Amino acid sequence: MTKRKPIIGVLALQGAVEPHRPHIEAAGGEFRAVKTPAQFNECDAFILPGGESTTMLKLIDTFNLWDSLAENFAKKPVWGICAGAILIARKVTNPEQKSFALLPLTVERNGYGRQLDSHQTEINGYPVSFIRAPVFTDVGKDAEILAKHQGAPVWIKAGKYTASAFHPELTLDFPSPMHKKFVESLP
Ligand code: GLN
Repeated sequence: MTKRKPIIGVLALQGAVEPHRPHIEAAGGEFRAVKTPAQFNECDAFILPGGESTTMLKLIDTFNLWDSLAENFAKKPVWGICAGAILIARKVTNPEQKSFALLPLTVERNGYGRQLDSHQTEINGYPVSFIRAPVFTDVGKDAEILAKHQGAPVWIKAGKYTASAFHPELTLDFPSPMHKKFVESLP
């Protein structure tokens, strides 16, 4: 029997959504840009993209999506990238804001500095971008640290939840090792 491709829903309210498509497809998944509860229910896993977490929170409120997202996140793997990591961290500082609290993680928003401090670097030999990225200031003991940068964890996993402070999707070499790992880890 051939296995159905897992459907990866990229939350499409704001931010870097479409750049995930070639990475997800090259990793063997099906890309979907999702923004309604009916679309969330069809997904096997989610990517919360980078962008601006405060804007995403406002749109989640405006369109009344919190409960449907929380229900889906409780059952399915989620990978939060940069702003997406902020949305799923247990605690957010600089300033404090609401989050889905899926991961034992504290993040300091914009902890790597302002836009001028955005930079590219390599993680596990793959070029990635830090764009007004959060610093992971506290990672719970039950989380696995998959990569560090400048001494701090930047890619972590706890159970079915993953967070990265950096963007791998902007690099045009498909799939990124991070997308490959995420898609391959799906049941
Ligand atoms: N600075 C943004 C925030 O706090 C995150 C930036 C990003 O996702 N590249 O939400």
